[in-house]
Amino acid sequence: MDTSSPAAFVNGALLRRYIGQKVRAVIQVIRSDIGSVIGKSTDDQQIVVKGSPNPPLTTYIEVIGIAETENTIRAEVWTNFGDSFDVQNYNELCKLANDRREVMTELQMEVEVEETNSSSQESLLKPTPKPQVMYRCKKCRRIVAIEENIVPHEPGKGEECFAWKKRSGNSEQVQCSSIFVEPMKWMQTIHDGLVEEKLLCFGCNGRLGYFNWAGMQCSCGAWVNPAFQLNKSRIDECKSEPNSNLNMETG
Ligand SMILES: [Zn+2]
Ligand SMILES: [Zn+2]
Repeated sequence: MDTSSPAAFVNGALLRRYIGQKVRAVIQVIRSDIGSVIGKSTDDQQIVVKGSPNPPLTTYIEVIGIAETENTIRAEVWTNFGDSFDVQNYNELCKLANDRREVMTELQMEVEVEETNSSSQESLLKPTPKPQVMYRCKKCRRIVAIEENIVPHEPGKGEECFAWKKRSGNSEQVQCSSIFVEPMKWMQTIHDGLVEEKLLCFGCNGRLGYFNWAGMQCSCGAWVNPAFQLNKSRIDECKSEPNSNLNMETG
């Protein structure tokens, strides 16, 4: 049983992939009994959560625990998520997180493979590999996100979107001071069951941003919900050239 790895974000459909493994899911509580809660996953499937919740539970809870069967989770961590929650969005994120789950670890391997094989396998490579945009921690240079991890948002109308007292009187459209990404493995603090917390770099432990499952407002005024925000001032955007030395370190 693999219980050491970070919990996988799941909905009802994804749960069966992780039997015996650690998962986290948001559940809409239908009925709570002693020792178990019956609820609905974000994709509307019935889930039984075993364990001992601390009442009172809100309508939406997040549980972290072991997937016992395709519709049962034995929960270790219970977090109240309030009575309203953007189920749709979380469900999309579950799917995204699972598609991209291995990206951060695979990325490193791909880079190494490409570097060692670049001469011998030239003919097998795509004709003109598109440079990949990646984001590195400014301090320790570790890659913290790639282009595909970005969750785009429509730029908001700047000042107009903020409460009066937060406005500076500058009516121009404000640039986004952050990028928003999907939840990723390296984000230690999101595995602690909190609704919002700082995002710390897995390399140097420096603060890179903030996350909030209930959403955050970008400097452009747009709301991103849920939000995994990386501050542009803490990261560097760079493009990987096919032959550049990416200088990836391990650990
Ligand atoms: Zn923005
Ligand atoms: Zn760092």
